[in-house]
Amino acid sequence: MSQEESTSRKAFFSESLNLVKRGLSVQLDKKLHKILEGPVRPPGALDELEFLSSCTRCSACVEACPYQALRKQPQSAGLAAGAPFLDLDRQACQLCSDFPCVNACETGALGSGVVQMGRAVVNEETCLTYQDQVCSLCYDACPYPERAIELGLDFHPKVTSECIGCGACTQICPTHPSSIPVLSPTQWRKKELEERLF
Ligand code: SF4
Ligand code: SF4
Ligand code: SF4
Repeated sequence: MSQEESTSRKAFFSESLNLVKRGLSVQLDKKLHKILEGPVRPPGALDELEFLSSCTRCSACVEACPYQALRKQPQSAGLAAGAPFLDLDRQACQLCSDFPCVNACETGALGSGVVQMGRAVVNEETCLTYQDQVCSLCYDACPYPERAIELGLDFHPKVTSECIGCGACTQICPTHPSSIPVLSPTQWRKKELEERLF
């Protein structure tokens, strides 16, 4: 990326941040709204706009992940092109004890100190337990059973607010697409807003 492109992207995000801070989010254009539905970011990522503004797209985190869990957004992502995200259908985050991805990042983009990548949500239309079949693979795979995910008396999986969005459940779910995708914080906020409005 040229210096000019980098500067103009930074200016765009800075201006957007200022708008949000001044409560003028209604003025944000379509391009920004698309970006605000950002995918699941690596552990420690700052809030989406700050993350996109800080991340230089250097790929150090992508290369540092021993599980190849991180990928780069395609050119079609516009201003977010090249930014790292977790492709959880393919590979869950293994929550490495030493967080190589976070340590590889020199920009502070993964410096929030919080491992909250998103939150899983069960699709009742496709989850096998809603089709009178027995399945508890997501529950069994979760590193925090009974805390992040529970099985009710009806044997349907229920995700709690303690889910951190590692995607172990997403990856192991036998349906295609997964019946328990992880929503990023921005996707989650959009879902909540839509549920309130409609
Ligand atoms: S915590 Fe480990 S598995 Fe997860 S994204 Fe970072 S390096 Fe990859
Ligand atoms: S994403 Fe799934 S496996 Fe990971 S903490 Fe949440 S419920 Fe558990
Ligand atoms: S693994 Fe998938 S199909 Fe099985 S209970 Fe969990 S969400 Fe339902």
